[in-house]
Amino acid sequence: MGFIKDLGEIYLAGNYQRFPVAFVRGKGTRLYDEEGREYLDFCAGIAVCALGHAPEVLAQAICEQAQKLLHVSNLYWTEPQAQVARLLCENSFADKVFFCNSGAEAVEAALKLARRYAWKNFGPEKHQIVALENSFHGRTYGALSATGQPAYWQGFEPLVPGFRHVPPNDTEALQRAVTGETCAIILEPILGEGGVIPLEESFIRAARELADKNQALLIFDEIQTGVGRTGRLFAYEWYGIEPDIMTLAKGLAGGLPLGAMLAREEVMATLEPGTHASTFGGNPVSCAAAQAVLKIVLNKDFLKEVELKGLSLAQRLNSLKEEFSELVQEVRGKGLLQGLVLKVSASPVMRFLFEEKRILVTCIKDRVLRFTPPLIVAYREIDALYEALREALKNYPLKEVQNA
Ligand SMILES: *Cc1c(COP(=O)(O)O)cnc(C)c1O
Repeated sequence: MGFIKDLGEIYLAGNYQRFPVAFVRGKGTRLYDEEGREYLDFCAGIAVCALGHAPEVLAQAICEQAQKLLHVSNLYWTEPQAQVARLLCENSFADKVFFCNSGAEAVEAALKLARRYAWKNFGPEKHQIVALENSFHGRTYGALSATGQPAYWQGFEPLVPGFRHVPPNDTEALQRAVTGETCAIILEPILGEGGVIPLEESFIRAARELADKNQALLIFDEIQTGVGRTGRLFAYEWYGIEPDIMTLAKGLAGGLPLGAMLAREEVMATLEPGTHASTFGGNPVSCAAAQAVLKIVLNKDFLKEVELKGLSLAQRLNSLKEEFSELVQEVRGKGLLQGLVLKVSASPVMRFLFEEKRILVTCIKDRVLRFTPPLIVAYREIDALYEALREALKNYPLKEVQNA
């Protein structure tokens, strides 16, 4: 480990806290560093590499498309984009899709659409957006203003005006915040970056009812929970409550950049020609990848497997909670988006897994270990994670290991 890290430290912006490792290739649930050391990946590019690393079907779809057409402007039609839009609409509440390149861009598109829809139908006063404390919606100004974590705002204010935040699962606070001036409520069904906090069905139902009562739109940010992550194609299916707008990105193209904003026809009709655009959005190669991902994830047996593996992971984590009740507070999540909430700092556990076991996990909000493996993770790999976590918790507090 040297050259790549040294080069990066000289030339790359210092905005990431990186582990001292450079990965050069991957296969399935495994990553390999410069020296050929193997790592088991329960991060998956933060819920991006849904089918694992370098899956054959994706590599093939990407290569074939790259040899045909890399890019044309959205002034013209392309087949992969139209096909992915059809797959998304045929399998969701939505009728229409706008494509972009990332999660933040999908959120920007959703916020802009909600404001413009209200402006057109009700006038400019109706522009307030209600979001949740502890939410995460991205780093661009609109998405950042929706994000309910002041730590992310520091030094970047003033933010976009017109946002209000209420605590997740606090129905009364939501009732107070949503008024006739509200144009949208934006929610993650499970707050991912906020600490893997699932919203209660009653709260989501209240949001739907308040949106309807106040002629506001309900936006689900499923950038982390969508595309099979929770054992359903979209997490909202668990509740049987549909949004008016939904954002997707992360797992959508299995590792290539692609974001999408979906909406009902009547809502999307507000985006008339010229109102919004993206040069790269819906790029043919990314869409060819998304087509390959969706064909696999849409398979009922595949989603059932994700659900069962998620149950297995949750069960393993819950047995750790029983065994180490003085260290473990809670297990929460759905499918293959699970959080192990500790009563103590989680980063020593994360570092132990990385350095001693070569298992990659993420640590959020200081005390939460998050697991977002590729959806193709094997049961024995879940067992391996369990054994490693058990050893870490047994030896907690772990001796301070030096971090280069
Ligand atoms: C990751 C994430 C985003 C931001 O996506 P980027 O591609 O990093 O811009 C937005 N919302 C949620 C729920 C996310 O998990």
